Amino acid sequence: MNMEPSASAKGAHPHSIAYFSMEVGLEPAIPTYAGGLGVLAGDTLRSAADLGVPMVGVTLLHRKGYFTQHLDPRGNQSETPALWAPEEALEPVPTRVTLDIEGRQVRVAAWRYVVRGVSGHTVAVYFLDTALPENSAWDQTLTDHLYGGDDHYRLCQAAVLGLGGVAMLRALGDDTVGVHHMNEGHSALLALALLERQTEGRGLQSATDADMEAVRRKCVFTTHTPVPAGHDQFPVDLVRHVLGAERAAALERMHCYTDGTLNMTYLALRFANYTNGVAMRHGEVSTDMFPHYPINAITNGVHAVTWTAPPFRTLYDRRIPEWRYDNHYLRYAVGIPLHEIQQAHAEAKRELLDEVEKRTGVRLNQAAMTLGFARRATPYKRADLLFYDLDRLRGIARRVGPLQIIYAGKAHPWDEGGKVIIRRIFEAAAALGDAVRVLYLENYDMALARQLCAGVDLWINTPQRPLEASGTSGMKAALNGVPSLSVLDGWWIEGHVEGITGWSIGDGQEPPDDPFGEVTLLYAKLEHVILPLFYGRPSAFAEVQRSAIALNGSFFNTQRMLTQYLRNAYFPTNG
Ligand SMILES: *Cc1c(COP(=O)(O)O)cnc(C)c1O
Repeated sequence: MNMEPSASAKGAHPHSIAYFSMEVGLEPAIPTYAGGLGVLAGDTLRSAADLGVPMVGVTLLHRKGYFTQHLDPRGNQSETPALWAPEEALEPVPTRVTLDIEGRQVRVAAWRYVVRGVSGHTVAVYFLDTALPENSAWDQTLTDHLYGGDDHYRLCQAAVLGLGGVAMLRALGDDTVGVHHMNEGHSALLALALLERQTEGRGLQSATDADMEAVRRKCVFTTHTPVPAGHDQFPVDLVRHVLGAERAAALERMHCYTDGTLNMTYLALRFANYTNGVAMRHGEVSTDMFPHYPINAITNGVHAVTWTAPPFRTLYDRRIPEWRYDNHYLRYAVGIPLHEIQQAHAEAKRELLDEVEKRTGVRLNQAAMTLGFARRATPYKRADLLFYDLDRLRGIARRVGPLQIIYAGKAHPWDEGGKVIIRRIFEAAAALGDAVRVLYLENYDMALARQLCAGVDLWINTPQRPLEASGTSGMKAALNGVPSLSVLDGWWIEGHVEGITGWSIGDGQEPPDDPFGEVTLLYAKLEHVILPLFYGRPSAFAEVQRSAIALNGSFFNTQRMLTQYLRNAYFPTNG
């Protein structure tokens, strides 16, 4: 197939898009992501390269990464820096820019990573770096830790990303940037940099509503967090100290403060011409949170080729070779014979069990129903919900067939609640012993996610509604013919067709936090619907696997998602 998408996209859109994100997941060797937000950023940039969209990425270098997770035999997490070698993965760029932070001149360098798309179009990603000898020892640390440090450290990082990113793009000569996409509020200070440029020569204090409007026309904002506490906020005094009196006063005049703090979400909302949540329900929840702003919804996706395991890549290449260029073709997975789906899945499962054995020394049972749960360990995801009633779980395995469960996920170093959940899973694993094998794998990352989402038989998702803005790991599973069993929240409200693409826990009408009620429904569905299908009617189970690919793999991908951003947010065609 010859689509030459880059030529047509360039012709239609003379302006390019600068995509700003505090975290980006490009490859496992670049550990500058913490979870779904960064993986989404990486998948977006990959799809931009595939579609020939003129896009450039901006992020921080994070020399010490997020962190490497260690778990002791009781599930206590400790952390060490995830040191990596930028010079092995990235190309240094000679350009330097200078920022004014706390009255000091901070020099910023950049490294380039080139994402090459399926047709050869490339997208550059710039990693900003302050570890230069001319900077003070403190300033050199500003691009070390993703989500490390205190408010002060994080505001300095936000300044490097937002102000430094805009300055760097300009210094690189990229004056075609017409759209700045803020992927979450961390990069919202870019609006201030654009306002400074808009008022160049006359000073920020002269900024008018018309200047602000001119900046707004260049900004798009995606919010990801459905809880107010999840949004970065900085005390006004700190803002004045870090950014200086003039910028702080300008933010005040632009009504960016609420209750004595600079809320990055409000800053982004004020300056964005288009704002969206990351699934339909999340758009509604965000509208309730920020009633004074119009909030749209574009549901997340995943990069199909990246998240499809080798056995399924081979199968799709043979049966629907167009899928790599155009993910819509995954719809035609409905025509793939069931035994080929089963065979590819068995291979993906074997690869996962090999990896599990390599890491833990435990050989899980290839024939046993294997559940997977992996995501950031934080209380609202309720990773331990499955263990509410261990006797019930033992009984299910005894009556219907063996069950084994694989877990993974990191808790943020300060997230005590998340760490408690990991320990609880270790306790449950010890209590269940051989009745239900439970393993928790260390150091969840993109490489492990690729194997885990593809190799289990059922992907479990138990967030507390409505806190899962979207969720994307279930989409990765779907691409590999792994159905979900999930609470009706985030993307699953859209992707769920009962008994066809997977199963729901409840009908979404239950009280939002009733763990006992929800887990009772979960156990019932496992025992009476899913396990009997898996063990008693394997080809009916394979039909669900196939429909998950055809219905959800073909839609919940970043190719569809980015096309929606182009149409609705970047270059709207509806006036
Ligand atoms: C996909 C992915 C996530 C996000 O998973 P959710 O289902 O959105 O929570 C987090 N971490 C890694 C390493 C991933 O690959």
